[in-house]
Amino acid sequence: MKLAGMRTLVLGMEKSGRAVAEFLRAHGAVVTPADRKPLALPGFRLQSEELFDEAWDLIIPSPGVPFDLAGLQRARARGVRVVGEVELSAPWLRGPVIAITGSNGKTTTTSLVGHILQAAGISAQVGGNIGTPVISLTETSRDDQWNVLELSSFQLETVQTFHAQVAVCLNVTQNHLDRHHTMAQYADAKGNLFRAQRAGDHAILNADDEWCRGFAPLTQGTPAWFGARNIRGGSVWLGEEHLMELSEIPIPGRHNAENVLAAGFAARLAGASVEQIAAAVRTFRAVEHRLEFVAEAEGVRYYNDSKATSVDASIKALDSFDHGLWVILGGKDKGSDYTVLRERLHAKAKAVLLIGAAAEKIAGDLKGAVRLERCDTLEQAMAVARAEAQAGDTVLLAPACASYDQFESYEHRGRVFKEIVGRLK
Ligand code: ADP
Repeated sequence: MKLAGMRTLVLGMEKSGRAVAEFLRAHGAVVTPADRKPLALPGFRLQSEELFDEAWDLIIPSPGVPFDLAGLQRARARGVRVVGEVELSAPWLRGPVIAITGSNGKTTTTSLVGHILQAAGISAQVGGNIGTPVISLTETSRDDQWNVLELSSFQLETVQTFHAQVAVCLNVTQNHLDRHHTMAQYADAKGNLFRAQRAGDHAILNADDEWCRGFAPLTQGTPAWFGARNIRGGSVWLGEEHLMELSEIPIPGRHNAENVLAAGFAARLAGASVEQIAAAVRTFRAVEHRLEFVAEAEGVRYYNDSKATSVDASIKALDSFDHGLWVILGGKDKGSDYTVLRERLHAKAKAVLLIGAAAEKIAGDLKGAVRLERCDTLEQAMAVARAEAQAGDTVLLAPACASYDQFESYEHRGRVFKEIVGRLK
């Protein structure tokens, strides 16, 4: 594709949009950056209905821009090419691709694959939805280097030719329905990754997920299935090859064993041996704020799962431990039903420490199932945990809520938690 002289509109000037604008300029295109909020950028235009109807050759909406926006539909009808950043990258990205998508576990699995390949001495660069945008990775891509990419459903919405030698889908659960409208449409965006595959490629799919099973007929590649079938009697198997014991995996929970399996299959296809994969997994540390082990103080272990901003994610966290839990819940409610936590908390938690704006609602949903302590702030919750937790117990921040009532972000909330733990020690 020739970009020189093309009139291009880049919509949404966050990280990915800025990288696209830079790339297009470097290739000689005329770039108009646009956003819904005013920004001080050369040639900047505020997004408006009329803007879409001007004479463009190419429009690149950021992942955050709804693909079915009326203006974009009109532009497409006039024959304007409308593609996302990942599809735009396709002709320029050199070297084989491992693309990882799914509703949950993308960042963990992508980091795992990167860690394994690095440990095995296999040349790779990691990016996409985490870290460096794909369009920027094109510059450092090489024929003999793997590209390990985390891709979200938004980024996959416009994929037609972007081609992954190894495509992974971890799971498809209800998520982002505000944007994709229906589960079928949401799954369909992920399906593009598999439709674009060719004979000789590989699709790594969760055998226990009905949406993932639906991707197998879309690909011309060879499916490799992972799931409960790969974990037998405490051992983890990559197909016929014994990988390691479940107990050797340093990141807790069944869901993380699934991430290890998906990453293991992908790394195997990139040339790592099972021994290399097992050795690398043993030294992998959780990605920050994702069931991250922080420290042990007076026999009490502290885990930061601040990324657990939904009830579903908190369930995964609770399922990763046996008993003796002090669970910190609360924050900004997202209209969730917390009653689904009752049984697990009753079985495993010594107490629930409630913080933030959602405390009263959660208390109502959990009443009678478990001891409840209203603590207001994270500091107060930690003071209660510190005073009462006994050696062998675990204090778990897995709040099931957004952080914005008391923190800037889930990262901020996780950092505050870790600072308090640091002071305990
Ligand atoms: P993503 O990048 O897809 O958001 P992360 O690796 O950041 O995924 O994990 C986010 C949260 O999702 C974790 O804290 C955990 O609760 C949950 N999770 C991780 N892996 C899985 C999985 N394979 N299945 C279900 N839930 C998972």
